[in-house]
Parts: sequence; C-alpha cells; structure tokens
Amino acid sequence: MNLLKKSAVVTGAAGGIGAAVCRELAADGYRVAAVVRKADERSEALRRELGEDIIICAADISDYDECEKLVSEISGKFGGIEVLVNNAGITRDNLVLRMTPRDFETVVSTNLNSAFYLSKLVFPIMMKARRGRIINISSYVGLHGNSGQANYSAAKAGLIGLTKSLAREFASRGVLVNAVAPGFIETPMTDVLAENVREAALAGIPLKRFGRPEDVAAFVGFLASEKSAYITGQVFSVDGGMSV
Ligand code: NAD
Repeated sequence: MNLLKKSAVVTGAAGGIGAAVCRELAADGYRVAAVVRKADERSEALRRELGEDIIICAADISDYDECEKLVSEISGKFGGIEVLVNNAGITRDNLVLRMTPRDFETVVSTNLNSAFYLSKLVFPIMMKARRGRIINISSYVGLHGNSGQANYSAAKAGLIGLTKSLAREFASRGVLVNAVAPGFIETPMTDVLAENVREAALAGIPLKRFGRPEDVAAFVGFLASEKSAYITGQVFSVDGGMSV
C-alpha cells in the first residue's frame, strides 16, 4: 500500500452508490477504507477489483463504540484520513400509523447518528492535518419529504442540518462539509420498489432516466478534490432535475 496517497473512508461501501464512490476515489488516487456491515461476496469483489488501493472494514456504524474502533483501525493503517463519505443508509418504509418506534429509531441511528459519530471521530485527525472533506449522502426525500418515509426523510433532513452546523464549526480548521441529495438512483435500495412506484418517479424526472451510482460518485469525487476548495455547508441535488 502506497503511504504517500491520500486516504478516504466510505461507509455503506458494498452498496450501489458506495461502491461507485470507492471506484471514483481510487481512480482519483486515494487509498480507500470501505466500511461494510459485514464482509460478503460484493465487498470481496470490490477488494479484488481495486487491489492495493482498498481495505475492507466491517462495522455496525450505528454503534458509537464500533465507530471508535473503526476510526482508530483506519487511521492506524493509513496514518491519516483526508476524506469521509457518510453514505451508509437503510429504509424501513411504512405509513406513520403503522411505523413502529423501533423502525423510526433504527433508520435515524443508521442514517444520521452514524454520520455524527464518524464526523466527530475523524475531525481531530483532519484538524491536525488542517485539511479534510466530509461528504454526507442525504436525499431528495430529506429536502422534500415523502409519504411512507417519515423516518428516512427525518434522518436525511437531519443530515442537512448536521452538514451546515459542522461546516460552520470546522471551517476555521480547513475541514469542508457538504451534502449530496440524490434523486432516484438505480441501486439495490431502489430495485425493491414496485413497478408503479418506479413509473411515477420516472414521470417526474426531466432528464427522463433514473440516475446511475456513477452520477452521484462523480460529484462526490469533485467535492473530495481541491477543485471544491471554496465550497462548504451546501446541499447539492443530483437528481436529473426532479427537484426543479
Ligand atoms: P444500498 O442499500 O445499495 O447501500 C447501502 C449500504 O449501507 C449497504 O451496503 C448496507 O450494508 C450499508 N449499511 C446499512 N446499514 C449499515 C450499518 N449499520 N453499518 C454499516 N453499513 C451499513 O443503497 P444505495 O442506494 O447505494 O444508497 C447509498 C446512500 O444513498 C444511502 O444513504 C441512501 O439513503 C442514499 N440515497 C439513495 C438513493 C437511491 O435512489 N438509491 C436516493 C437518495 C439517497
């Protein structure tokens, strides 16, 4: 492993968007710590594909103690962390009348608490280096709400508030924090949706196609790079014009 390369941590790395972000950052010259819930054939395939530019780390990022161990393991191996992409996310959709408190809490702790935990833990490392990028993967639903997704939209809206507060708090230390709000992206998360839901979504997208994980990853690559040096605290829609 080349210790002169910059390092990035990507959560939810075996998923559609996460894997594309790992490929993008590896292509941009980063060593990537790909965080997965459990190592499986998808993470193994990614490891084979990216070779010495990637390490796979298994952790439940909704648990603070696991996040602490994770960050210490990664910074020990890499000697620093320049980029954190808080991408892991889950859905537990239901109408509010049927949504259990547990389904609400699980979605918020996985999608939102984890981003707070990891940002808090990587900040001292980035602060020392006086450089860092934190990129939070929010959602169209975090900006606009969605029936059946009160838990998910609350967590994704929370990520936007977190992004803006961290941006203000970390700016003087050279750490920039931004959020990306994807629209409808073809991944395992959306593969499970019913055909009528997919058709209704497509009708509302001016570019008349669903997004690809690479569409989101390309923008994350830009936010991770020096080219975004004057941008912090912002939310960027990558949604084919869905939010226009
Ligand atoms: P995905 O289901 O393919 O990937 C999500 C990954 O997160 C999975 O690999 C899963 O194992 C991991 N994960 C879940 N809980 C975890 C935990 N506790 N600890 C560690 N890892 C955990 O989903 P995706 O579509 O690639 O979504 C990636 C991100 O983009 C998510 O935050 C999602 O909410 C967001 N997003 C997706 C879409 C879309 O249309 N696909 C739209 C807007 C936002």
